[in-house]
Amino acid sequence: MLNVILCGAPGSGKGTQSDLLVKNYGLKHLSTGDLLRSEIKSGSSLGKQIESLIAEGNLVPDHTMIHLIEHFLDNLEKDCPGIIFDGYPRTVDQAEALTLMLTRHKMSAVMLDLYVEEDEVIKRLLERGKVSGRADDNYETIKQRLKIFHEVTKPVCYYYLTRHNYFAINGNNSVENTYAQIDTILQLVQK
Ligand code: AMP
Repeated sequence: MLNVILCGAPGSGKGTQSDLLVKNYGLKHLSTGDLLRSEIKSGSSLGKQIESLIAEGNLVPDHTMIHLIEHFLDNLEKDCPGIIFDGYPRTVDQAEALTLMLTRHKMSAVMLDLYVEEDEVIKRLLERGKVSGRADDNYETIKQRLKIFHEVTKPVCYYYLTRHNYFAINGNNSVENTYAQIDTILQLVQK
């Protein structure tokens, strides 16, 4: 199985690259942001609890996220060629829990870290905010999401770096250029 963890600041292109990986590698896309947004839409009690956290740019508690991933992995089809973890793990505790869960399922994963300059991600997110309808694509919330990314999520990259499971990608250029780097790495990893 080819399991990929896509890390990167909000607006770094994780969703766009995931779409390409689904198309070209047949991987299953697990976007925790999408899962949480559909939970909010469903009006469930969990949705109600997390709505304001997301709108304020804060993280949903680890235990909730770990439970969601556990449920996803327990219900994975046997013939799944691999998973793209888009937006998970976002804390070191989530990363440690993922290692345990993957080991239990006899799986592993590599991290691809999309690096994009801060000015560029802000520009992209404000542009997306004009059409996305997302409560968190506004300047104030973007600033909070970036702060959390640097303080809480960036250490997750070091977690994988120190385990030799880490590749850095320059995501500042075109979608095609970013994808070409990812494709080269995944071809090597699969050998
Ligand atoms: P995203 O669509 O990945 O940008 O996620 C949108 C929001 O969902 C984030 O700003 C967080 O509030 C929440 N979220 C998504 N994934 C996680 C996660 N792994 N841990 C905690 N909160 C998350």
